Amino acid sequence: MAVDATLPYDDQNVFAKILRGEIPNRTVYEDDFALVFHDINPQAPTHVLVIPKGAYVCWDDFSAKASDAEIAGFVRAVGKVARDLGLVAPGYRLLANTGTNSHQEVPHLHVHLFAGQPLGPMLV
Ligand code: AMP
Repeated sequence: MAVDATLPYDDQNVFAKILRGEIPNRTVYEDDFALVFHDINPQAPTHVLVIPKGAYVCWDDFSAKASDAEIAGFVRAVGKVARDLGLVAPGYRLLANTGTNSHQEVPHLHVHLFAGQPLGPMLV
C-alpha cells in the first residue's frame, strides 16, 4: 500500500527493521551512511535498493534534515555501487518514489537501482 510521505517516520517500517538486523537482507554494500541490498521482488536482472542509515521518510525529509556528511555519504554510496557492480558502461536507472502518487510503499528513503538489460524509455 502506498504511504503518505508527509507522515512522521515510522520506526516499524521494513527497512528500519533491516537496519536494526531484525529482518535479513542480501547486502551488496554497507558503510557508515548507507546500506545497499537486493530488492526482494526484483524488476530487472539487477535491482538493488540504496537506503540511508538515518531515519528519513523521503527525499524531501532527507534533504531538509540530514547533515551534509549524510547526504554526501548516501550519494557516494549510490555511485560506488554502480561502479563496483560494473554498471556504468552498460548503464542503469535510478528511481526514488515519494508519496502516494508515485506509489511509495516503504516509508524509509530508498533509491532503486535497476540494471542488467536495456530498460527502455522512461515511463511516467
Ligand atoms: P517503493 O514502492 O519505491 O516503496 O519500493 C519498495 C521496494 O521495497 C519494493 O520494490 C519491494 O519489493 C522492496 N521490499 C519490500 N520489502 C523488502 C525486503 N524485506 N527486502 C528487500 N526488499 C524489500
